[in-house]
Amino acid sequence: MSGCSTVRSTKLLVSSWFGFSEISEGVYADDQMSPGQQREFLKTLSLSKERVSAFFGSIEASSKVFACSTEECFVSHGGVTAKGKAYGDSMLLLSPRGLDVTTAAHELTHIELHNRVGTFRSWREIPDWFDEGLAVLVSEDSRYTEDAWSKTTDNGCNAPKLENIGEMLGKGDWLLSYGTARREVGEWYLRAGRAGLEHLIAEVKNGGDFNSAFNSIASTEGASNPTLKRDCAKARSPLASR
Ligand SMILES: [Zn+2]
Repeated sequence: MSGCSTVRSTKLLVSSWFGFSEISEGVYADDQMSPGQQREFLKTLSLSKERVSAFFGSIEASSKVFACSTEECFVSHGGVTAKGKAYGDSMLLLSPRGLDVTTAAHELTHIELHNRVGTFRSWREIPDWFDEGLAVLVSEDSRYTEDAWSKTTDNGCNAPKLENIGEMLGKGDWLLSYGTARREVGEWYLRAGRAGLEHLIAEVKNGGDFNSAFNSIASTEGASNPTLKRDCAKARSPLASR
């Protein structure tokens, strides 16, 4: 399994993007990509945009998408082992292993969230686990099922602390990191809904504290769904209490 990496930097210089041609507005493919692959990718991209738009209600970010048909292309433009890479609120780079609806939707979700939150300063307030959890949720990533997560974490008992997820990303068991993040965001979203998400984004955009907004929105919505099993977690794993 492989995930993404999010670069919380400002935009790269467009002049550093050699060897790409624009194949549709805002969509660039490397010069090795065949016309057939290009057509296929444009279809994939439009399906992934539909997924993101259905979740947020619309797409506000105008992103530039760079698709690589070779690993050389991906690596020479800053990619490593991930399938894709989102740059801030405006650009995404996809590896030849990431030219699928799930990966594109995942990266577009990062970009949409960053864009809606507004500034570089504000989006740094969003913890990695929320950023990744939302991307896995919105992209409907089929690898992260409730069953698989329950098995991996012994029904949540071995789930990591949310604040430790950031440093776990890209290493070890993806179900523990991305899976736990997805579950936490998913349970929260069941209660908060789109209105709650919009509220959270507005709070962070206005300089509010992420954690207090996240927690107060969930409880305002009359939580009845338990999230991680905290008691079990406390009793059985020092890692999982928080
Ligand atoms: Zn991601």
